[in-house]
Amino acid sequence: MSKTISIIGSGFSSLSASCYLAKAGYNVSVFEKNDTVGGRARQLIKDGFTFDIGPSWYWMPDIFEKFFNDFGKSTTDYYVLDKLSPAYKIFFSDEVITIGDHMDQICEEFERIESGSSKPLRKFIAQAQDHYNIAINKVVLKPGISPFELVTKDTVTRVDRFFKTISSEVRKNFKNPKLISTLEFPVLFLGAKPSQTPSFYSFMNFADFGLGTWHPRGGMYQIIKAMKSLAESLGVKINTNSTIEKINVEDGKTKGITVNGNFIASDIVLSGADYHHSETLLDKTYRQYSENYWDKRTFAPSSLLFYVGFDKKLKDIEHHNLFFDTNFENHAEDIYDDPKWPENPLFYVNFPSVTDKSMAPNGCETGFFLIPIAPGLEDTPELRAQYFDIIINRFENLTLQKVKKNILFKESFCVKDFIREYNSYKGNAYGMANTLRQTAFLRPKLKSKKVDGLYFTGQLTVPGPGVPPSLISGKLVSELIQKNEI
Ligand SMILES: Cc1cc2nc3c(=O)[nH]c(=O)nc-3n(C[C@H](O)[C@H](O)[C@H](O)COP(=O)(O)OP(=O)(O)OC[C@H]3O[C@@H](n4cnc5c(N)ncnc54)[C@H](O)[C@@H]3O)c2cc1C
Repeated sequence: MSKTISIIGSGFSSLSASCYLAKAGYNVSVFEKNDTVGGRARQLIKDGFTFDIGPSWYWMPDIFEKFFNDFGKSTTDYYVLDKLSPAYKIFFSDEVITIGDHMDQICEEFERIESGSSKPLRKFIAQAQDHYNIAINKVVLKPGISPFELVTKDTVTRVDRFFKTISSEVRKNFKNPKLISTLEFPVLFLGAKPSQTPSFYSFMNFADFGLGTWHPRGGMYQIIKAMKSLAESLGVKINTNSTIEKINVEDGKTKGITVNGNFIASDIVLSGADYHHSETLLDKTYRQYSENYWDKRTFAPSSLLFYVGFDKKLKDIEHHNLFFDTNFENHAEDIYDDPKWPENPLFYVNFPSVTDKSMAPNGCETGFFLIPIAPGLEDTPELRAQYFDIIINRFENLTLQKVKKNILFKESFCVKDFIREYNSYKGNAYGMANTLRQTAFLRPKLKSKKVDGLYFTGQLTVPGPGVPPSLISGKLVSELIQKNEI
């Protein structure tokens, strides 16, 4: 008889693992505490407006395609992808930079800002492509068990790029502060400061300028729907409103899980919930990492988010808009060095209805506002209101239009919600940062060192934060399970 696997959570990593494990012949059940699947990537639908609650940037389309190809499918079997043109816009205090959907356009824009900058840009992106090919095709596909995984012919000849930072590499080639911010932006997805991120991670710049920014029609939740449908077609049983209260262990071996007070026997347990929370479901003797360990890690930021319905179309905005009109270094210090609410935050606004009519009622705009903040900050209704005022005023001034009176409704989401909805450690939004000391084999492990038959996946383990890495994490853990649990 095939072995039974209980998977905790239904985020990208859990759904990915569930598909691979069901395909391999295991008897797989997914248990999700919330009433819908998708984890941080759920959807909010209100009064005809559709919001992706979490991820909104569809980068690295090759990884999504490879995921579905592994099951004889393609993304086109499930959703329609549009390449965004332009990809996004960055508002500085006195200028707007528009990132086109092709390197030639981006080079033109760089030349406009700093004469002669297109040459170093092409060189920088060529190197970023080289990093992408090595990282995505080789390094991230390793399970993070041993340091030797990182030692390959390709990485040894580029070892300096693990010790230089993105920040120093960008500054060596570009002088204009706006171009520097533009090139440092993509690594923010990895959750750490560019000055703490190895220059090897410039593969994110290739993902940005080289592969482009895409949008699944109907929003990012279409990917979750596609994965759920694929998982069910492979025989995965998906249970929502199912909170795991305990991972049951006897004599160092998993026996199953306790769900809403009921014991469910399983040969293998895989948790895709936040790693820290997953370990609290174990008796103390079976936990691998202490509270002190977690406290000392660099976590990716939390976020203050607003989902806003506007009763009119807004002007001079794109699908993705970054507001970099204040000092990036100061905001980064408030996130990583001396955690506090930022005085002058940078922020991001997503208007999916600019390119996708299905996301808002006719003549209206769907707006998603995001301010990155340190995890664990105080979160009160007053602070949320204060920060909405700050950014909506700046939004009006920078885009030269009045919008406050056109707000039909706004919902917010912050630290307390991340903790309540996802059991997120300190309310982090996207997991543990990918710094040099928290990369590959230095991240929390996929397989428990203390409990046989217990595994972990998701953005706190390998390879790291983001939707594409979560898909890969599910694949890596499923391969490890197949190797160990025959
Ligand atoms: C605001 C925001 C913006 C982002 N933007 C982007 C972006 O633009 N592009 C990108 O690629 N990535 C982005 N990310 C990151 C990306 O969304 C995440 O890396 C990814 O979704 C994480 O998936 P996961 O499976 O690791 O975890 P999760 O999605 O958190 O899944 C874990 C699941 O476990 C469930 N769970 C927890 N405890 C229990 C329990 N006791 N019992 C049962 N279930 C439980 C949770 O409810 C949740 O559903 C963003 C994230 C956020 C929050």
